[in-house]
Amino acid sequence: MIVAANFKTNHTRETAAIYLDALELFLDTSFIDCDIRVYPPLTALLRADLYSHVKLGAQNFYPVVSGAYTGEIGSHQLGEFGIKNVLIGHSERRVTLKETQDLIAQKYAFAKENGWEIIYCIGEPKDVREQGISAVLEYLWSEFDGIDMDYERLSVAYEPIWAIGTGVSAKIKDIDEISNILKSKLGNTPLLYGGSVNSENLSSIISLSSCDGVLVGNAALDVANFCKLIQIAQNVKK
Ligand code: PEP
Repeated sequence: MIVAANFKTNHTRETAAIYLDALELFLDTSFIDCDIRVYPPLTALLRADLYSHVKLGAQNFYPVVSGAYTGEIGSHQLGEFGIKNVLIGHSERRVTLKETQDLIAQKYAFAKENGWEIIYCIGEPKDVREQGISAVLEYLWSEFDGIDMDYERLSVAYEPIWAIGTGVSAKIKDIDEISNILKSKLGNTPLLYGGSVNSENLSSIISLSSCDGVLVGNAALDVANFCKLIQIAQNVKK
């Protein structure tokens, strides 16, 4: 079971370090066998090898080693922190930051070449959801253009855009329907759900047979709350 926290543009270097120390302590003293990942902002990255229970990852990178890409960081910079774990295709980068499928596929290929662990995000906007399941699936499949779905260090996060950061999660029956279809295509690749996951809905989401974990934004910003989510995930018997 994967339980991942995406900080987005929240936390500073100082507060992220306090968060991670508290999380490590919790994981050190609890019997948790989930795969725990945290994606702080790039300015708050710390050395990944400082943590034995948490995998630290990067929310973003540019698909180069180094060079003239003002404002970006490449594998040289991530390497300094021992980061081998990245998010790719998050809807906030696709929609707000205008990342194209072509750039996303380049980032994916670069991450794969480096052997990094990837959480690859897909999800449909509200107007597509309103057109029904065939439109949703067509949209989701298009987000796999140029993506090697057989990469062994891949997890996919299904995150309906209209459910991200809105406090309105998808209905359990809808998550179940889409997740079953995605999983039939993904085989053994872990499938996560993301979109307003919280301590109330987490248990029903991860009890779904096709759900292998969650990617959490808002509800993971507070470390005590994230520990609570981890404990709930741990308690679900699958
Ligand atoms: C996310 O950032 O991927 C996310 C799912 O955010 P939230 O939990 O706030 O909806």
